[in-house]
Amino acid sequence: MHTLDTLAIIDTHIPDLIYLLAAILFIFGLKMLSKVPTAKRGNMISSLGMLLATIATFLFINAKAAPEANNYISLIWVGIALLIGSLAGFLMATKVQMTGMPQMVGLLNGFGGIASLLVAVGDYSLKYGEVENARWDSLLATGLAVLIGGVTFTGSIMAFGKLQGTKWAPDQPVQFPGQKVLITLLLLLSLALSGVLVATPAGWWTIAIVTIASLILGVLLVIGIGGADMPVVIALLNSYSGLAASMAGFVLGNSALIITGSLVGASGLILTNIMCKAMNRSLMNVLFGGVGGVVTGGKQVTGEARAFTAEDAAIIFDAAQQVVIVPGYGMAVAQAQHAVKEFAEELQKRGIRVMYAIHPVAGRMPGHMNVLLAEAGVPYEQLLDLDQINPEFEQTDVALVIGANDVVNPAARHDEGSPIYGMPILDVDKSRQVFVIKRSMNPGFAGIQNELFFNENTGMIFGDAKKVVTDLTNELAET
Ligand code: NDP
Repeated sequence: MHTLDTLAIIDTHIPDLIYLLAAILFIFGLKMLSKVPTAKRGNMISSLGMLLATIATFLFINAKAAPEANNYISLIWVGIALLIGSLAGFLMATKVQMTGMPQMVGLLNGFGGIASLLVAVGDYSLKYGEVENARWDSLLATGLAVLIGGVTFTGSIMAFGKLQGTKWAPDQPVQFPGQKVLITLLLLLSLALSGVLVATPAGWWTIAIVTIASLILGVLLVIGIGGADMPVVIALLNSYSGLAASMAGFVLGNSALIITGSLVGASGLILTNIMCKAMNRSLMNVLFGGVGGVVTGGKQVTGEARAFTAEDAAIIFDAAQQVVIVPGYGMAVAQAQHAVKEFAEELQKRGIRVMYAIHPVAGRMPGHMNVLLAEAGVPYEQLLDLDQINPEFEQTDVALVIGANDVVNPAARHDEGSPIYGMPILDVDKSRQVFVIKRSMNPGFAGIQNELFFNENTGMIFGDAKKVVTDLTNELAET
């Protein structure tokens, strides 16, 4: 083979080689994201992969098209879009509060969905004159990209609205008779029309109907779910946005998009599954159970809870050898993570062993507690998950529950009538002494009473988490 031929082959395959390299970087990056110490580097490596894939895409398209061709991409337009997008992303990322992260991720999923829909529709309009010659798989992918992209877009906007507490997206699940039937019909119609598009490619009407049906479907699917289940829905919509991108990749014949879309689709689905398992609920129950409305079931708890002051509790902490801190949603609400770290340091100064027990669904989004405690500078080796920490409670002198409720409710172990029955919980009740910091006897997310609060070895310290933890630190320092 001539050197020139070899060069030509290398030249046409360069974008594919870069895509392959990008895919390898995505996979390594994703793997590193699953561990706290390597997560930052994993993010950088994945971003580098995305940059390479983007550059390769322009090389690939422009190498094949003449500057006057309609699919030639002007780098000036790309530059302008990149600038606007980066600026918007930068502003959003710097302004958003940690507690607003789920909404932001939801919104970004929605943008991903609408982008895939627009790519599919745009490509269809470019091909329209000779769409009869289009490959059947590309046409099917067009229909599916529109369907999944549309559902992801309106579904994510609804999820955003529910989390943000907007009037147009009520926090309560909105369910009406025939909702599931309507959802099924719209889904079947959209799938059937995607098939029709393959059989009769020149049909803008099919694309138009699938678009409208998918946008309605997204609203109907999410409106029936309670606001507090939105993090699970957002993980699922994240998976949908990946699938939509993957379909757009098939439409364009772009392997990088197919790979990234599949990775996002699979990881979103895995996360959804992990969250459902940790709540001991099926995906069907999350999607159609309407949880978040009126709560029924579970034994009534009677008895009297014992209130403690920070001063009394500090004396018990002072005598402890091992303390386990159990953070929950209330710590996030009170933004008490820095105060918690200071308290832990005060304990450690006295030679007391301190560990943090992290339940997979503590708080309101995956990794909520890890993120807050990492922000406060708590060493990640002190954060132990459910399986690691549960055997430790029997050797623990004091378990300090800070704004957690459902994830420490022993009813999950034995009360078959309880809505949280079967959910794996942190066995804090097995510790010698338990202190619970919360503002009242009100229930948590599941809306049920917690028998832990009435146990002999439990003391309630009522108040805002940040204030109580700061008081505990001061009292301990004086002991
Ligand atoms: P819970 O929602 O069960 O309880 C939180 C407790 O925090 C409340 O009882 C509340 O009591 C207390 N609280 C609120 N604000 C403050 C404050 N400022 N200071 C002190 N206490 C406060 O939280 P958990 O973390 O235990 O459990 C999470 C729940 O959310 C689970 O049921 C889980 O299934 C669900 N969920 C989690 C998701 C996730 O991804 N993490 C996703 C979807 C659902 P009071 O008002 O008396 O102060």
